[in-house]
Amino acid sequence: MTLKSKTAVVTGSTSGIGLAIARAFAKEGASVVINGMGDAAEIEKERAGIEKEFGVKAIYSPADMTKPDEIAAMIALAEKTFGSVDVLVNNAGIQFVSPVEEFPIEKWNQILAINLSSAFHTIRAAVPGMKARKWGRIINTASAHSLIASPFKSAYVAAKHGIAGLTKTIALETATHGITVNCISPGYVWTPLVERQIPDTMKARGLTKEQVINDVLLEAQPTKQFVTVDQVAALAVFLTTDAASQITGANLSMDGGWTAG
Ligand code: NAD
Repeated sequence: MTLKSKTAVVTGSTSGIGLAIARAFAKEGASVVINGMGDAAEIEKERAGIEKEFGVKAIYSPADMTKPDEIAAMIALAEKTFGSVDVLVNNAGIQFVSPVEEFPIEKWNQILAINLSSAFHTIRAAVPGMKARKWGRIINTASAHSLIASPFKSAYVAAKHGIAGLTKTIALETATHGITVNCISPGYVWTPLVERQIPDTMKARGLTKEQVINDVLLEAQPTKQFVTVDQVAALAVFLTTDAASQITGANLSMDGGWTAG
């Protein structure tokens, strides 16, 4: 159990990749703060399930990642409840697919706020405690879209390129403080986020669902397989270990070879 007596905050962990990461940290003995949107009863079921299955403490913060004051309150709640935030995963994210000339301004602002600015706000609040304790792990869920672009995803690609830059900057600022800052850049992972963009991509490109899956999504991924949430979570766990203490400022691809091409 590599994370015993540590606390992990995982944004956007009521679903998909974030939930898998929170569960993997709990399995390693961490107290966890889960966060995200969704049905209250479902979230409570997940939270209680984590406590029961892994014998750790889990709390839920409903902080909206578009709201800086709620984000600061989430970090404060974690520190007050558990005494520290040792591992921070900035994972909350949304997608919207549209040609740029029709891209709704409010969607652009929302994606930039959730997928990029929220990480600035969590990091800003959590770094002082990490520096004081001389230990911290910050992991940002970026994307293959932090390295390359696809059409019709202007806000998402801009935000993900931004988070890759933020990762490098904070890695340099914290390098002598026992803190590492990295991003994981998955290709297509089968989660609700991917499922939800299929209808919009069908519309934007005039394709069937099968064509979107095979000719757009898996077309990009040389292995022709989706990444799994558990594979992403396993890399996140590795980044918290001593073996990974010299990995900082890195953008780690897990994309079935997508960005190699
Ligand atoms: P998901 O839709 O399953 O999960 C997204 C999470 O973010 C949910 O818990 C949701 O409630 C939360 N969220 C959304 N808006 C929020 C807000 N305003 N405040 C707080 N939480 C909010 O999606 P996922 O696929 O698990 O995506 C997680 C991350 O992984 C995202 O940053 C996404 O960009 C990234 N990613 C996903 C893929 C993929 O193929 N699924 C690939 C690369 C990167």
